[in-house]
Amino acid sequence: MFKKTLENLRAYDPGPSVDEIKDMYGLKRMIKLDSNENVYGASPNVRNAIIDDALLPELYPDCQNSDLRRELSRRLGIREDRFLFGAGLDEIIVLISRAFLEPGTSMVMAWPTFYEYYCHAQIEGAATKKIPCDQNGKHDWKAMLEAIDETTKVVWICNPNNPTGTYLTKTELDQFVQAVPENVLIVIDEAYIDFVTAKDFPNGLNYLESKENVLVLRTFSKSYGLASFRIGYAIGSLPVIEEIGKVRPPFNNPRLSQVAALAGLKDDTFKEACVLKNREVLSMTTAFLDKKGISYFDTQANFIYIKVAEPKQVALYCKQKGFLINPFQDGVRVTIGTMEDMKLFLQILEQAILETSAEPSK
Ligand SMILES: *Cc1c(COP(=O)(O)O)cnc(C)c1O
Repeated sequence: MFKKTLENLRAYDPGPSVDEIKDMYGLKRMIKLDSNENVYGASPNVRNAIIDDALLPELYPDCQNSDLRRELSRRLGIREDRFLFGAGLDEIIVLISRAFLEPGTSMVMAWPTFYEYYCHAQIEGAATKKIPCDQNGKHDWKAMLEAIDETTKVVWICNPNNPTGTYLTKTELDQFVQAVPENVLIVIDEAYIDFVTAKDFPNGLNYLESKENVLVLRTFSKSYGLASFRIGYAIGSLPVIEEIGKVRPPFNNPRLSQVAALAGLKDDTFKEACVLKNREVLSMTTAFLDKKGISYFDTQANFIYIKVAEPKQVALYCKQKGFLINPFQDGVRVTIGTMEDMKLFLQILEQAILETSAEPSK
C-alpha cells in the first residue's frame, strides 16, 4: 500500500515538548540551543506589520510573493523571475528532490550535513552518496567531485555547513563549481550566510551569471528570527526555477508569512545587531573552550560544534540542567545563545564533560 522507499524511514521525531521536559526535570526555564533559532527574536517591525495587515482569511495568498520578490530582487540585484519561494528551505529541499531525483539517479552530499537532503532523496528512491567531512569538519569537495558519476543529478553544498559551522573558501568553491558537469545541479545552501565574517567566503549568487546549474538557497528562519513563519527561497537560472516551479504547491506561503518576511527584510538594523551580538558571544565561547582545552570546529554560523566523547550523555546532562543542545556522532551542536545564557551553559557543559567522561566504576 505504501511507497517502497518509505520502508526504512521514520517520521521526524520531535521528542517531548519543552513544557514536558520542564515538568520532567522540575525546571523553571528551558533554554533552547538546539535549533539555531535567533536567540534575539525578530525585528519589532514584524509584529507591527502583521498586526496592521488586514488578514483576509478567506482569500488564498499571493502565489507569486510579489512584494517580497520585488524587494529581494531590488536588494540582491537579481531578476524577479529567478526566485522560487517555499515554506522554509525544508520545503524547497523537498521540491528539488521531487523535481530532480528518482530511482536510478543519485545525489552527492557531505556527512555530516543537513539531514533533509538525505531524507528526501531516500523518499524519491535515489541513491545517496555521503562523503565524510575532513578532520576539520569541512566538506571534502575533491572527494565529492570524484563521487559524481553519470547517475548524479544533484550535489549539495551547505555553506557554512550545518552542523559543523565550517565553510568552503571562494577559491575552493570556484574550483568545485567549475569542475562539476553542467548537467548536475549544484545546490548551495546558504541558510547561515548572514552570520559569516570570513573575508574569503564565497557568495553563491556570484556563480549564477556564468552557471545555469547553480541554485542558491536562503531563509528567513535564522538571521531574521522568523522560523515560525516558514519562508525561504531559491535563486537560480530560469530553466532550473521553471522546472522546480512545476512541483511547487502554488499557495505555499501564507499571507502573514509574506508580510512578516518583508518587514523583517527591511529592518537591516535588527539583523546587523543580532549578527554582531552573535560574534561577541562566539568569541567569549571559543575563549572559554580554548582555556579548558575542549576542541571544536571553527564556525561561521550562529552555532558551534563542540567535540565531546559522549555526545548523547552530554546532551542529556545539559537537558536535565535546562539547556537543549543537539548530539551528533563525535560532538554536540550548540546554538550561540545570549551572553548571559551562554555563560551559564558553558559551566554546565564543563560539568557534563567531566561527569560523562569519568571511568565507569568496576
Ligand atoms: C535551518 C536550516 C534549513 C531549513 O530552514 P527553514 O526553516 O526550513 O527555512 C535549511 N538548511 C540548513 C543548512 C539549515 O540549517
